[in-house]
Amino acid sequence: MFTKKRSATGRGLTWAAAAGVILVAAAPLAAQPPAQIQAALDAAYAKYKGLQEGKNADYIPALAKVDSKIYGIALVTTDGTVYTAGDVKSEVSIQSISKVFTMAQVMEEQSTDAILKTIGVDATGMRFNSIVAVEWAQKGLGGPEINPLVNPGAITATSMVKGANRDEIWNSILAFESAFAGRPLSVNKEVYDSEAATNQRNQAIGALMLAYGFIKSDPARATDVYTEQCSISVNARDLAVMAGTLANGGKNPVTGKQAMNAENVPEVLAVMATAGLYDDTGKWLYRTGLPAKSGVGGGLIAVSPGKFGIAVVSPPLDDAGNSVRAQKAIADVSNALGGNPYAAFMH
Ligand code: GLN
Repeated sequence: MFTKKRSATGRGLTWAAAAGVILVAAAPLAAQPPAQIQAALDAAYAKYKGLQEGKNADYIPALAKVDSKIYGIALVTTDGTVYTAGDVKSEVSIQSISKVFTMAQVMEEQSTDAILKTIGVDATGMRFNSIVAVEWAQKGLGGPEINPLVNPGAITATSMVKGANRDEIWNSILAFESAFAGRPLSVNKEVYDSEAATNQRNQAIGALMLAYGFIKSDPARATDVYTEQCSISVNARDLAVMAGTLANGGKNPVTGKQAMNAENVPEVLAVMATAGLYDDTGKWLYRTGLPAKSGVGGGLIAVSPGKFGIAVVSPPLDDAGNSVRAQKAIADVSNALGGNPYAAFMH
C-alpha cells in the first residue's frame, strides 16, 4: 500500500494519493478491514495462477509426482483470523520448513546459546546440502559457520532433541510441530520412504557431523528422524498457522496455546532472516524484509512479527529451490498490507 501509486491523471504521485496510501498503511493490521486483507490475497492468487515457471523437486522421487497445480495462500493475523485464497487443503511435505521448528525445540529444551555454540547462525553462502560448507566450518579453516536451516545444521539440531529412544524423540518433534499448526500432524509415508531410500548424501552429512564432533549421538538415527520430520504433511493453512504462531510470540493465535517461549522467538526469526531461502535469502529479505523459510515440497512461510504469518503452497521451484509462485504471492500480499518490519516507521 505504500508503494508509489500514479495518480489518475498520470502526472505522478499527488499529495492526495500519497496521503491516502500512507493512511491505509498506517492502520495496524487488525484495524485494516478484513475485506482489504482478503482482497490482497485474492489479487496475488489471481495474478500468479497462470504462471508457468519452475519445476517440482525431483531428487526425492515422490516429490516429482506431486500435482504442480496445487496453489493456495493462507494468512493468519495475530488476532487469529484466517484468510485464504485457492487450494489451502491439499497437503505437501513440509521439508525444510520443519527445520525452523526443530531449531526452536532445541532452543526450548536447551537454550538459544546451544544453537549458537553447537551449530552456528551464519549464512553459509552455499547450497542447503553442501558438504563443502561443513569442511569450511572446521575450526582453523576460517570459513563461515553453518546454521540450523541447512542440512548439516538441521540434522545436528534433530540429534540434539531430547528423548530416551527414537520413538520418544520422534513423538516429541511431531507434538512440537503440531502445536504450531494447531492440529495433530502426520507423516506422508510415501515421501518418507522415497527420501529414506535416496538420502545417501544426507547420511554422509550425518556421518561427517559426527566425525567433526557436532553430532554426539547415532548419526544414522538423527538423519532418519530428520527425514521423517521433513515428510510431515501440511497444507497452506497449517503452514500459515505455524507462521502466525511465530508472528504472535510463540502463542498459536488460533488455539490460544503457547507453542514456545516468547523470549526465544526473536532468535528463531533472526536465523530465518539470515538463511531461510538458501542462497537467495538476501534477495528475499531485500524485497520483503520478512523472516521466512522455504521447503522443496513447495511450501513457503513468512512472518511479519506482531502482525501476521503467511504461507503459500505451490510445488514448482526456481533454481535456488524456492517456490516461484510462493515468493511472488507472499511479497505482493505483504507489501499490500505493510508487512515489512524494516518499514515499520511507515505504518
Ligand atoms: N528433506 C530435504 C533434504 O534433506 C529437505 C530439503 C529442503 O527442503 N531444502 O534434502
